[in-house]
Amino acid sequence: MIDGVDKTGTFYEQMPRNELESFQSKALIRTVARAAQSQYYSNKFKENGLDVNDIKSRDDIVKLPFTTKEDLRLSYPTGMLAVSPMEVVRMHTSSGTTGKPTAIFHSQEDIDNWSELMARCLAMAGATANDVFQNMTGYGLFTGGLGLHYGAERLGMWVIPAGAGNTTRQIMLIRDFGVNVIHATPSYAMHVAERMVQDGDDPRSLGIKIAVLGAEPYSEEMRLKLQDLYGFTAFNSYGLSEMNGPGVGFECPYQNGMHVWEDSYLVEVINPETLQPVAEGEVGELVLTTLRRKAMPIIRYRTRDLTRVLPDECPCSRKHIRLARMLGRSDDMLIVRGVNVFPSQIEEVIMQHSWIGGNYVIYLTRKESLDQMVVKVEIAPGAFDGSIDTLRYRRTELQHQLKDQVGFNVGVEVMEPGSLPVSEGKAKRVIDERGV
Ligand code: AMP
Ligand code: ZN
Repeated sequence: MIDGVDKTGTFYEQMPRNELESFQSKALIRTVARAAQSQYYSNKFKENGLDVNDIKSRDDIVKLPFTTKEDLRLSYPTGMLAVSPMEVVRMHTSSGTTGKPTAIFHSQEDIDNWSELMARCLAMAGATANDVFQNMTGYGLFTGGLGLHYGAERLGMWVIPAGAGNTTRQIMLIRDFGVNVIHATPSYAMHVAERMVQDGDDPRSLGIKIAVLGAEPYSEEMRLKLQDLYGFTAFNSYGLSEMNGPGVGFECPYQNGMHVWEDSYLVEVINPETLQPVAEGEVGELVLTTLRRKAMPIIRYRTRDLTRVLPDECPCSRKHIRLARMLGRSDDMLIVRGVNVFPSQIEEVIMQHSWIGGNYVIYLTRKESLDQMVVKVEIAPGAFDGSIDTLRYRRTELQHQLKDQVGFNVGVEVMEPGSLPVSEGKAKRVIDERGV
């Protein structure tokens, strides 16, 4: 509640469990009716012989079909739009940079609700209108920028939309404007700290009080290290563009798992093989349904993120369930510098070149806290014509194509035929030495 106005949705935040669940039932019925307005779901419901009137409560969620990233891609650009284009005020996409992205549409009401959720997260972390907030993630189609931005403004914070990168300027802005709340990827926060330490500076001297860290997986150890370096309290923030972006799961001051705002998202955890719900508290794939979105409701979205619902109520007294830190993914998607990358995208580029052999490895490391990707390829047997210049040219060309494909610099190492290890079973294409 700010100045008597419920800008953070305190009403929902404080709902007792039974009220929350009956709200979810009503919201699900409304969501399904709205979804049926889209070409995609109207066809899908027909295919499944589903009558929207069969959905009477939250328990009926199991009657509904799952939605996957592939479904979103196939319905690109507007197959899942459930309102007139006139009502759309903004779109975002997932952070993957190639092929057809998954495009998500928002009405004004959707943006307002999302901002409310973000403001709620920031307030839960202890941020107030008196604080100065620096948003150190990318803006544009990526949801981390505008998502946090609107939430912080709604809370009445002083917002500095610094965007990603330019470390020297980030540090200057933090100092000059007394920034005490930041949003960054954990790897970038670590990069900034390491740079400062290298320059003989102390990250604690920045005076940051609260850090919102998310968009990529990281460990509890990484959180503790960052808290120690900066002296701030770090809050894990989880989201995905299909579910708006940030604001889906967020930690309270107990830092014991992320509360999911269940007035906006219906949570299921399934076994990715059988697609059946896992037993209470067991690890599985997180499946989410939007409950308040209007322009583009998404039903039973398979996030591919692996986690579990934590048992017991949180001492903070909020009744919204908590999820454990994400444990990995049920597909092969990599998150490199906050960008979603599928190994198949790399393969697609490599395989266009007849001078490259069939074996390749994607090698991931972390240097000064920044993810590095090196692709090792072999020259196809007989393809080397003895010219080092040709080889150099080919390597540079491949480097450019990979950069175009994923959006960041990728190293390329060209090896002799037969020098990469050949695995006996499934090919091991990705060697990830970043740890988390
Ligand atoms: P995007 O839709 O591009 O924003 O990417 C969303 C994906 O980023 C999620 O499905 C997760 O795999 C990952 N992600 C976002 N936040 C976190 C977090 N706090 N911890 C672990 N993974 C995260
Ligand atoms: Zn809590």
